[in-house]
Formats: sequence, C-alpha cells, structure tokens
Amino acid sequence: MKYIADASLFIIGKRLEGNFITVPSVVGELRDENARTSMELMDVRVEPPTSVFIKKVRDKALATRDSEELSATDIELLAKALEYSAREETTLVTDDFAVQNTALQLGIKVMPAGQRIIKDILTWEKQCMGCKRRFPQGDECPVCGSPMNKRRTNRVRKNK
Ligand SMILES: [Zn+2]
Repeated sequence: MKYIADASLFIIGKRLEGNFITVPSVVGELRDENARTSMELMDVRVEPPTSVFIKKVRDKALATRDSEELSATDIELLAKALEYSAREETTLVTDDFAVQNTALQLGIKVMPAGQRIIKDILTWEKQCMGCKRRFPQGDECPVCGSPMNKRRTNRVRKNK
C-alpha cells in the first residue's frame, strides 16, 4: 500500500505497513524530534509536487470553498496524492478536515492518523514564517509580509 502522509502521521507516530511519500514542506514543518525520528524510521520518500497537479487541486478547492482553509503545504500534499492516485491505489493520511474534504472531492482515499478525529473539534490559526507572530487568518503576515502557515491551536472534545 502506498501512503501520502502529512505531518500528523509522524507526530502521532502511528505504525503502518507500506510505502510512504510526503512533500518537502511537510518535512520543513516537523519541529518535534520524535516526529523527525518517526519519519526516518518509516523510510519516507520526499518528493516535490508538480505544477499540473497543484493547479488541479487549487481549482477544485476554489470550487468547493475549501481554499481559504488550505495552506500551501496542504495543497502540495493534495497535489502529490492526486498524482499518485491517478496511476495506483493511494491513501492520503491526514487529520486535517479541509484536506480530507478536498481529497474526497478529488476522488482520493483518505485515512486519519489519529484515533479520535471525528470526535474532535479543531481550531486553527496562522503563524508567520518570518517573525513567528500569530493571526487568526490570512496568507501573508500583515507585519513583515512573510508567508504564513496554518497551525492547530487546540483540540476540544465534543460532549457525548
Ligand atoms: Zn511576520
């Protein structure tokens, strides 16, 4: 089985059998040492996405209104998953609802990395890659103009 993986798989450290592929920007987002070790142990192949598939993902995300929720990294992951799913069975492993939603619209199989993904409410914020300030939304830092990445702020358990 071939898996396209986002950072959550390595952060959670879930053990799966198969071949793993990710994009360079996911590797760049892995700050946690355990997550980096986990990625090395899984012998993950890092491949940049191609522009043709990035455009296909962007077009679909615009149509489904997921585009505001998707970071540049999310779009690269989806592009890589779309590229592979066109020629073989591929599963995208992600805990991100917007990525899951867009993937399903693109006909890509998805699997959550965490166990409780459906019960959790995730909230997000953007963090500047330059000055590290945090903002509720936007793609470009209003202070220094650097690009901003999406970050998970907290995780709230829904009441049963
Ligand atoms: Zn900034």
